[in-house]
Amino acid sequence: MADLRDINDQSLTDLLSALHREATDPANAAHVVQELEVHQIELELQNRELRAAQQALEESRDRYADLYDFAPVAYATMTGQGRITQMNLTAAQLLGVERGRVPDLLLGTRLAPENGRALLDSLSRALRTGEDESLEVGLGRAPEARRDLRLIIRRERPPPGEEARTACRVILLDITEHLQLTARLQERELQLEHLVQHDTLTGLPNRLLFADRLGQAIRQAHREQRQVALLFLDLDGFKSINDSLGHPAGDQVLKQAATRMLGLVREGDTVARLGGDEFTVILAKLKDGSSAGLVAHKLTEVFRRPFTVDGRTLYVTTSIGISLFPQDGSDVNTLVRNADSAMYLAKERGRDTFRFYTEDMTARVFAQFSLETALRQALVNEEFVLYYQPQLDLATGHIVGLEALIRWNHPTMGMVEPLRFIPLAESTGLIVPISVWIVQTACAQMKAWQDQGLLTDAAVRVNLSNRDMQNPDLAEIIGGIVRAVGLNPAALAVEITETWIMANPESAAGNIRHLQSLGIEVGIDDFGTGYSSLASLKRLAVHEIKIDQSFVAGLPEDADGCAIACAVIALGEALGLKVVAEGVETQAHARFLTTAGCRIGQGYLYSRPLPAEEFESYVRRQGLL
Ligand code: C2E
Ligand code: CA
Ligand code: CA
Repeated sequence: MADLRDINDQSLTDLLSALHREATDPANAAHVVQELEVHQIELELQNRELRAAQQALEESRDRYADLYDFAPVAYATMTGQGRITQMNLTAAQLLGVERGRVPDLLLGTRLAPENGRALLDSLSRALRTGEDESLEVGLGRAPEARRDLRLIIRRERPPPGEEARTACRVILLDITEHLQLTARLQERELQLEHLVQHDTLTGLPNRLLFADRLGQAIRQAHREQRQVALLFLDLDGFKSINDSLGHPAGDQVLKQAATRMLGLVREGDTVARLGGDEFTVILAKLKDGSSAGLVAHKLTEVFRRPFTVDGRTLYVTTSIGISLFPQDGSDVNTLVRNADSAMYLAKERGRDTFRFYTEDMTARVFAQFSLETALRQALVNEEFVLYYQPQLDLATGHIVGLEALIRWNHPTMGMVEPLRFIPLAESTGLIVPISVWIVQTACAQMKAWQDQGLLTDAAVRVNLSNRDMQNPDLAEIIGGIVRAVGLNPAALAVEITETWIMANPESAAGNIRHLQSLGIEVGIDDFGTGYSSLASLKRLAVHEIKIDQSFVAGLPEDADGCAIACAVIALGEALGLKVVAEGVETQAHARFLTTAGCRIGQGYLYSRPLPAEEFESYVRRQGLL
């Protein structure tokens, strides 16, 4: 027979059928009764256990309520609008409210204004998707009392059979200290990193960071097909300062040296101290190698200013070696080694100077420097001369204009071509006073000729450079010269190259308008080489375009040259502009241009640019023809 304690549905059926069977047997009846009594006792025992369990359950519910209230974590239940319907004591304490007294607390009103919206978004997302949400918010509106909280939001699970809940359980974690600690740690980390990568005396990057920066500069220059210059500086005679005045004095010099170097380089360049009196400068964005020579030159100059240490005046110069990426090396070590050996070369050459790793680079840069020095002298020594080249009416052969072209008559170099010195004059800014001289000279010459009855209805054209056009006072200066000379403004015109105008249409427009308001015409030089748009041509309202001589040279054989020349002529006609062809060297050029509708030509076919007296004779001869 089955044990009564193990009774289940199947065994109950078995038991009943067994009882039935055995009850039919009177001999077993007493046994059955006994079994039933035992069963009753068992049931009573079970009842008692059940009651005990129920009591225990009630006690534990109280215990869990305590756990909920006193848990070190703040819990709350809130609606989709952020209304707190229930919270534990920890949450009440955190929010600074007395639980029970504030049944309708809207959490959003306790948060920093920008966080209220985020809370509502998170609540509605959690309710919609059932996914947990987590967000960080600031509790308290006053900045000084503000606490940082992380909220973890979970949609309440509906009891089985019920609709989805519209409330969320929220855990509120106070992470104020945690965030403060993280911020302090990050700050410390940055400080440590700075310490590891910088020189403590000067604050400059040390060898480690220098190598890193040079590597970066090399990679970037490689991508952008550019050059990088590495300047290696060593102070001259620094050891004797340390020896005679002591290390603190030496340290002062190094610190001042660092400040001077930093004042000279551009953003993006790096000045580093490798140790001792060795410094490096990385010029990361180099236009061309020779401009590194210019920086090195300026560095030697700033060192020549005396250093003052403890009221004492000290003189310390520097010797600089330069290596260039990619020609002198394509990795950090090679570039450093080669700049270092160039530095020794500079020391050998008498210190207080610089040398490139390659001799021809050094020669080129020094030649440019001496050219620059000579150019500065040229204005003072009156070495510039203007030549004049006529512009002819192709149909009648009359002189309708003339272009003034500068020459530099150097005492030892002889006649220097403008293309050799104009770019240098532009990059050094010397072009500005030179242009003023050109305008002044051309105007005075033109006035003298017109006073003699020559060229009375022609205009002299002067070339202005990009740098001139950037000068906001340009038109004013030119206007002043024209007035002072007493020249009719219509007898002066200026030429500006197309590439520059199109690159800077806005800054060009102001000067062009101003010149035109003075009655001075403006023409575009080298037309066809830039990318003028019709719209900008119209807007700038220039008077003249000059077909670049590179297109004229190919006429009439070169198909492209012909097409461009014809297009420029047609464009000029359509916009009502004067079109001048320059570089007219042959009758074939002239014939093609005339047939294409071009009216004015300038070139060796008629005359080379001539000094003033020769030009005057030419004009007089033309007049007699
Ligand atoms: P550009 O303004 O296009 O001047 C025309 C150049 O073509 C002049 O060279 C002139 O001598 C040359 N040329 C004239 N006819 C012919 C010819 O038939 N065939 C050939 N092959 N060439 C011819 P130049 O005088 O050597 O001037 C060269 C450039 O230097 C000028 O080009 C201009 O950009 C600049 N330049 C010259 N003088 C001045 C100036 O006074 N100020 C400024 N800012 N730049 C000037
Ligand atoms: Ca010109
Ligand atoms: Ca030209």
